[in-house]
Amino acid sequence: MPNTPLLEVRHLKKYFPAATDFFGRTTAHVKAVDDVSFTIQAGETLGLVGESGCGKSTVGRTLIHLYQPTAGEILIQGQPAAQLAAAKQLSRTLQMIFQDPYASLNPRMTIGQILNEPLSLHQVVPKEERQEKIAALLSLVGLMPDHANRFPHEFSGGQRQRIGIARALAVNPKLLICDEPISALDVSIQAQIVNLLEDLQAELGLTYLFIAHDLAMVKHISHRVAVMYLGKIVEIAPSSELYDHPQHPYTQALLSAIPVPDPDAAAKLERIRLTGDLPAPIDLPAGCRFRTRCRYALPVCAEQEPPLAAIGPDHQAACHLPARPL
Ligand code: SF4
Repeated sequence: MPNTPLLEVRHLKKYFPAATDFFGRTTAHVKAVDDVSFTIQAGETLGLVGESGCGKSTVGRTLIHLYQPTAGEILIQGQPAAQLAAAKQLSRTLQMIFQDPYASLNPRMTIGQILNEPLSLHQVVPKEERQEKIAALLSLVGLMPDHANRFPHEFSGGQRQRIGIARALAVNPKLLICDEPISALDVSIQAQIVNLLEDLQAELGLTYLFIAHDLAMVKHISHRVAVMYLGKIVEIAPSSELYDHPQHPYTQALLSAIPVPDPDAAAKLERIRLTGDLPAPIDLPAGCRFRTRCRYALPVCAEQEPPLAAIGPDHQAACHLPARPL
């Protein structure tokens, strides 16, 4: 089917119970993901950014059905992810790379055993070919075949993330959800992992959802970027368009906080400081969720929630203010 996105997310919601009454009935929810829609084409990288607690990691975990969606649809090449999950086929298409590679690797297993698990579970190659496949996976991520005999604690943080990537690639997935894959690493190692992910994308035709709070790194790796705030996507655009012409006041504030290496250039830039506290997710403001921290807030912002609407080719934002050049 031409032009069918590799991943299509329609009106996805993930609510967590936050309070119960005397009878144990849920009386309040945290709306971690609240009506989120986006697509990712095959071979594309979509960056998903926002402050801690905005729901971006919950999106990733709901996509792979670590969390059951509260509502909405997830389609993989047009096929419902729920069907694939029921048939235990979802993880053959969709894999996740976690923020803390050490916590996600069993310390009592050798790297060879760790990589053998998905190969054997999904019958990726015949048993007699698994050692060869493990060696190939390690080479693919820049490690040595004899690393298969070692344990996770014998590796550095960057090497452990390479092992996490090799494990995710074992089942030949089409889409990798990279959940803050470099946040726990030294700055000097972060670029190496990003370069590895880019090389693997070119070599294997992979598609990425790259979740991060580091906007500078997201710009480097992403074709398009979506910005989340309190469970909603507030702006989505091609990477260069979003960074050069951000329209949503929240995106503008996030971008203004990126450090600029040139002191003269930095002195000319306005740093937009967000005032006001981040609202409690259990008690969200009516209307626009960003209005308690927005320097442009209008009366209408307290009454009507702005829809995510087109403001240019392939550029959408959720704001009552008209689009303006910056
Ligand atoms: Fe600010 Fe209003 Fe736009 Fe929300 S809708 S971002 S409060 S101007």
